[in-house]
Amino acid sequence: MQLVFASNNRHKIEEIQNLVPSSIQILSLQDIGCTEDIPETADTIEGNAILKANYVTQKYGYNCFADDSGLEIDFLNGAPGVYSARFAGEQKNDKNNIQKVLHELNGVDNRKAQFKTVIALNLNGEQKLFTGIIQGMITEIEKGVNGFGYDPIFQANDYEITFAEMNQSEKSAISHRGLAVKQLLAFLAK
Ligand code: IMP
Repeated sequence: MQLVFASNNRHKIEEIQNLVPSSIQILSLQDIGCTEDIPETADTIEGNAILKANYVTQKYGYNCFADDSGLEIDFLNGAPGVYSARFAGEQKNDKNNIQKVLHELNGVDNRKAQFKTVIALNLNGEQKLFTGIIQGMITEIEKGVNGFGYDPIFQANDYEITFAEMNQSEKSAISHRGLAVKQLLAFLAK
């Protein structure tokens, strides 16, 4: 089966390719000749996943899935959420985003946070949504060098290390994206 994964994020494509059985051939946006920026103008994580999947299916005619993720921090009433990539500005800089979170939580006891992923799947004219959530906390300092985004400051509940201190398979086994992908795969297997 061929499925387009509507992403250009190298880390995410690697993570998902490691989780998908070899019977499913994942095509990237580059593979189908989609080089333009797909609009991500919704104000929810769900809405952006749907926008991206629908864009590829409607314009290119492929079965497709798209994901959108974000970090939701309790003390910030769920921010940065859908705006996680550009929390500290349009340049989408991971280091600046981390510094902004650490600054806003400086001296704050409630450090609860969760990562959320929504995958929108367009398959043969039908749409399904899959949601993965991992709960945890924002650490006081950055730890680890693996992964991307907010990984160095996110520690999942029941773990003593951050996502950036895990290797990719350890992270995928428990991550928001891993959980959403598991649901996607279970659905595709039916
Ligand atoms: P995306 O929708 O998956 O591209 O995620 C949007 C933003 O959320 C990313 O640019 C990161 O800042 C953050 N994010 C999403 N997933 C992760 C993750 O697994 N680790 C760290 N940051 C993440």
